[in-house]
Formats: sequence, C-alpha cells, structure tokens
Amino acid sequence: MTTRYANILKPLDLGFTTIKNRVVMGSMHSGLEDRFYNYPKLAAYFGERAKGGVGLIITGGISPNRQGWLLPAGGTMNTLGDVVPHRLVTRAVHKHGAKILLQILHAGRYGYQPFVVSSSAIKSPISPFKPRQMSERTILNTIKDYAYSASLAKKAGYDGVEIMGSEGYLLNQFLSRHVNQREDQWGGAIENRMRFAVEIVKAIRKEVGEKFIICFRLSLLDLVHDGNTMDEVITVAKALEDAGITLLNTGIGWHEARIPTIVTSVPRAAFVDYTAEVKKHVTIPVIASNRINMPDTGEDIIASGKADMIQMARPLLADPFWVNKTATNRVDEINTCIACNQACLDHTFKNQRVSCLVNPQAAYETELVYVKTKKPKRIAVVGGGVAGMSAATIAASRGHQVTLFEASADVGGQFNLAKVVPGKEEFHETIRYFKVQIEKMGVDLRLNTKVNREQLEREGFDEVVVATGVIPRALKIEGSDLPQVLSYAEVLRGAEVGHKVAVIGAGGIGFDISEFLLKPPHQKQPQPLDEWQREWGVDSNPNYVTEGGMVKAEIEPPIREIYLLQRKTTPLGAGLGKTSGWVHRAQLKKHNVRMLRGVQYKAITDEGLWIETAGQDQLLRVDTVVVCAGQESVKEIMPADGENTFAKYHIIGGAKLAGELDAKRAIREGAELAAKL
Ligand code: NAP
Ligand code: SF4
Repeated sequence: MTTRYANILKPLDLGFTTIKNRVVMGSMHSGLEDRFYNYPKLAAYFGERAKGGVGLIITGGISPNRQGWLLPAGGTMNTLGDVVPHRLVTRAVHKHGAKILLQILHAGRYGYQPFVVSSSAIKSPISPFKPRQMSERTILNTIKDYAYSASLAKKAGYDGVEIMGSEGYLLNQFLSRHVNQREDQWGGAIENRMRFAVEIVKAIRKEVGEKFIICFRLSLLDLVHDGNTMDEVITVAKALEDAGITLLNTGIGWHEARIPTIVTSVPRAAFVDYTAEVKKHVTIPVIASNRINMPDTGEDIIASGKADMIQMARPLLADPFWVNKTATNRVDEINTCIACNQACLDHTFKNQRVSCLVNPQAAYETELVYVKTKKPKRIAVVGGGVAGMSAATIAASRGHQVTLFEASADVGGQFNLAKVVPGKEEFHETIRYFKVQIEKMGVDLRLNTKVNREQLEREGFDEVVVATGVIPRALKIEGSDLPQVLSYAEVLRGAEVGHKVAVIGAGGIGFDISEFLLKPPHQKQPQPLDEWQREWGVDSNPNYVTEGGMVKAEIEPPIREIYLLQRKTTPLGAGLGKTSGWVHRAQLKKHNVRMLRGVQYKAITDEGLWIETAGQDQLLRVDTVVVCAGQESVKEIMPADGENTFAKYHIIGGAKLAGELDAKRAIREGAELAAKL
C-alpha cells in the first residue's frame, strides 16, 4: 500500500536492533506503575498500544531508589523482586513486535515525599518538601543505583532504558544553574554540571553491555531563569553521545516553568527547530517531542530531517491505533488528542489513574470493554453532542442498530462552541472523528430532527439514550432581557460585542469567553508560532544564548476592556484544570482583564452593570454583558419515574447533570452505557 507517511513508517536500524517505525510512545505516568497488583492492567494498556503499531514505548518513570520517588512508595526498580511484574509488560509489548524501554526517573526536588534530595538545597515551587543537598557519597551511590536499576530492567525483558534528564527532574537539577549552585566537581561550569548525567550513562553502559538501548531525555529549552543556553545543551548532548547513549530524546520546559509547553494553545510542533539544532551536532538518532498529534506534522518533521523519530504520549492514549491507521491511509479515523490534559495530566497531579477525555478506554482496557452483542437491539440516541455521539458510535460498533437524532443541522453540540475559542482549535478534530465513526459504524444520523417521546415510542425502539445536553443558564436580574445582554453561546456564534464588556461567571467558559474577546477575529486561530513565541517570551532563535531560552514577552494590547466577575470569594479560576488553569489565568492577567470576586449582580441598565462588592454599590460602565453562568439540563423527553414506556430510557451527559457539565464525563458516560446495552 502506498502511503504519504513513508518517513514515519520507515524502520530505524540501531545496529544491534531495529525499531519497526519512527513513532515513540513517550513516557507518561499512568498511575498503574506504582503498585505490583496493577501490572496486568498496565500490560494491557501498553499491549494495546503495541498492537496498534507503535515502534517504541517508554514506560512511566520508575525510581532507581527511595530518595528518587515522585510520590511516597512510588514505583521503584532496585530489587530482584521488582523485576517480576514488569515481565508482564515487556511480554505484552514484544508479542506485537514493538520495543519497550523502562524510564528511570529520579524526581529530585520534585518529589512529593520527605526524602527528597537535589544538587543544592533549594526548594521547588511545586513541592512542599525542601531537598537535602546530595553529598559526594550520595551522588556516587545514586550512580550505582541507576546502573543496578538498568541491569534489573534488562532482566525484566526491557530493550533498554530511558534516563529522564529533562522537565526539571534530578538530572536537570544538576545540569542547570537554576538549582545547581555547587562549587565542587558536580557544579559550576557545564562540564561539571553534566558530570552526574554522564557518569550515570557510563555506569549503565558498563553494566548492561553494548546491545541494550540507552536513551537520554535532555532538556532543550529549560524555560526557567538561569536555565541553560543552546550551546550548553549541545555540549551535554555530545558528551552523552560519547558516554554511550543510543538515542537522544528531547524535553521542553521544567514543570515549574510559567510558559506552556503542551496545552492546546501551544502551536503544533512548536519546539522542533530546537531539536533540529541539537541534531546537527550528534550522530545518534534524535527524537522530537511536544505537541505532535497528527501524522502530517510527524511526517514533515522526519522528512525535513529535523528529527529521526517523533514522540507522542497523549495522542497514543487518545488512539492506541494511531500508527496502524496512519499506515493504512485511515488518518481521518484517528481519535485525535486535543491536548486538554483533563483526563491525563490533571489526573496525575491529583494522584489518580490517567485516562483520556476522548478515549475513556485508555488505561481501562480490561475494565471498559466493547464486546460484539449477541442480541442486536434498535437504539435511539437523542442528541448529537459528544455524549450522544460516544454512545451511538460505540453501541453501533457492538452490532446494535442505532439511530442518532439531532435537532440542529450538525452534530458536535458544545464542541462546536469550544472549537472557536482561541487555542481550542483541536476540538474540531473530535467532531471530525465522531462524524467518521458515525458513517463507518452505520449509525442512521437524522439531522434537523427534533423528536418527542411519542415519535420514539411509535418507531418502537428498544432503548432510548437521552443525550439532549444543556442550554446556557439565563441571568435573572433587572435588565437581563436588554439587547446588550448576551449568552456565551450567542457570542461564540458571532453576536456583536461592544468595546467594554462584563463577563458574568468565571468558570471554564467565562475564561474562554474573555480570551475570545481579547483579540480581533483574524488573530484568533490558529495562532502562528512566531506570535505565540512573542506573547510568551520564548526565544525563537534555535541557537539561543538567552538563559533557558526566555526573552521578554511582547503583549499585543487587547481590543476590549474586560471585567470577569464571580460571586464566590475564592480566587478566580481556582476550579480550572491543574495543568492548564494557570495558562488561562496568566493570559487574562497579561491582557489586563480585571477580575472581581465576591460580587453581587444588581441590575443592568443602559449605563452598564450595577454590582455590589464589599457592601458598596458600583457601576461597571460596559456596553455588553456576557452571561457565562453555567448551564441547565434539557431533558423533557425523559419519562418521569414510574411512567410506563415501551422503550427503556437512559440519560447521560449534560442532560443528566448540567452542574458538572464536562466533556470527560459526557464521553465516558456514553461509552460506559453503550458497552452495557
Ligand atoms: P461553571 O464552571 O459551572 O461556571 C459557571 C459559573 O457561573 C459558576 O462558577 C458560578 O460562579 C456562576 N454562576 C452560576 N449560577 C449563576 C447565576 N445564577 N448567576 C450568576 N452567576 C452564576 O460552568 P461553565 O463555565 O459554563 O463551564 C461548564 C463546564 O465546561 C465546566 O464545568 C468545565 O468542565 C467545562 N469547561 C472547562 C474548561 C477548562 O478550561 N477546563 C473550559 C470551558 C469549559 P459564582 O456563583 O461564584 O458566580
Ligand atoms: Fe489528550 Fe485530553 Fe486525552 Fe489527555 S485527556 S490524552 S490531553 S485528549
């Protein structure tokens, strides 16, 4: 079969072993690797990705010793007993011809536990525990621990190890002056700061022999003060190659950096030119990472010679069959990662098992199973938002005869609104994915069709899934029926908005609307890379000499004056996602959005919005008020309790619970119901 993606699908010969294509599943903590009893689930999770065609998998980080734990009693590889559960994983992956590396990760001062150590005793802003400065003896013992860990990984059947040296973890804490303020042979000039990493690689190579992959994940752009320059990054890369690594992987930004590196608003492949710069100076294969989610982007990176492999973690959670679909010209069937972080990284930071908003089977492969039905039923799904589409397509894939009713002219529901928000362009991929599934699974889609219960009963469906979604909650104060009062849905559909705006409600949508209104329409999407780099202060020169690749941000003046308001007295945006909320808050702050809390809404008049804060009346002289006060469920089609109906009725998504309207729950509820019907 001819394919446009010949470069990503080309094998990579490492001399002693060959990786079957150029796609790497990057390391990501799943929450399953820390407990031995979860290894059957972990094996199923990785096995599914190997079956889906990925060439190389890197596990979530496993510590070489107790000091390196990310969390108390985190996954460790430092006794023979630790080897046993890992064999399940390596077998499950090798069965499908993929290779797998164990990632050895020492968290250093990022550890959320009291034994933390680092290059210098400087507390990180993201852990409450102050680290102890590592003594010479501790450093030497840690080098031995890495080597022993790698030898155990070999025993467990791994094809190699990845040494985590980026993202601000321990080795990065030695490599960069941001933390390393030592004056001994492990600190000072870059030749000293890199000694620890280089000695670890040498010790591992000595222990495991030549025919074992050693990959090093190096930070190409620290994005923190006192971070390395590109010249220093290249010095380290060359030294690691000399020390014996097989592959050079790349990382961008420390976890504490205040510049986003992976959220949806970061342009696709934003950092690949830094990878290309390093690649010029080494002869080993180099892996590009960050915001690569679709085959076209990956193919361009490899075809242009900027990297030898592409690494994705979240996109393979979203679709384990990404590679096979690419190889068989079914790119339109890829369930694309929308970089929302809501079910993956946000879970990790809450110490929960990861999954995926668009693919609730991710990391639940043995629990959420879609089995072909032996008793096909006639199923009506009412509502073509993401909950309805999830239920309809999965029920149809199981062999049911499914009709999907959608009152409007198109499917997508709330995602049609979300996809026009700046930085949320990826949301259109989810709608595209479901549309292709609807067609492929033979779902009978009836657009522009508002059904009622009588019609459903007349058609004799066996089961009815009510996924009729939500409507925006209207504001009920004096003046809320004035023409200058708009719902968020009206604004996103193009209603005219004045120069001075009050946004009522500071949930996810209040933040989205504020961002939407800050820029003129032509600047909204997708944001060009150079503009994004200027806005966030990222040095666009791949051979940067600035500390950590940071320059002064250049903010375009906003086109509107915006007030963002809430009744609660808590900080605005406190309920946003852990890994993306800070990006939204920073965006609004940089653009001078005035955020007021503890507000009571009194009235809207032609003068503006009257509010009360701290017992004082105040007039906000605005031309437009945009209401983002949550949603209300639409569910009139649902029978009352005890009412007699021919069909069995189920309710999911926003129709079931508008208070916690959330796409993650909507898609999962659709999938879980469809798995059981
Ligand atoms: P939301 O998060 O529930 O926020 C709506 C806000 O409106 C509430 O926080 C509430 O704050 C205020 N409100 C509620 N009733 C009101 C009333 N009668 N009058 C005035 N204010 C009222 O809802 P949303 O912003 O519409 O977002 C809906 C869901 O979409 C979220 O739960 C989220 O899952 C998802 N979403 C997420 C993101 C994201 O960034 N992750 C972005 C967009 C949407 P006060 O009572 O304090 O004023
Ligand atoms: Fe991607 Fe969001 Fe799924 Fe995470 S939860 S893998 S970011 S789509």
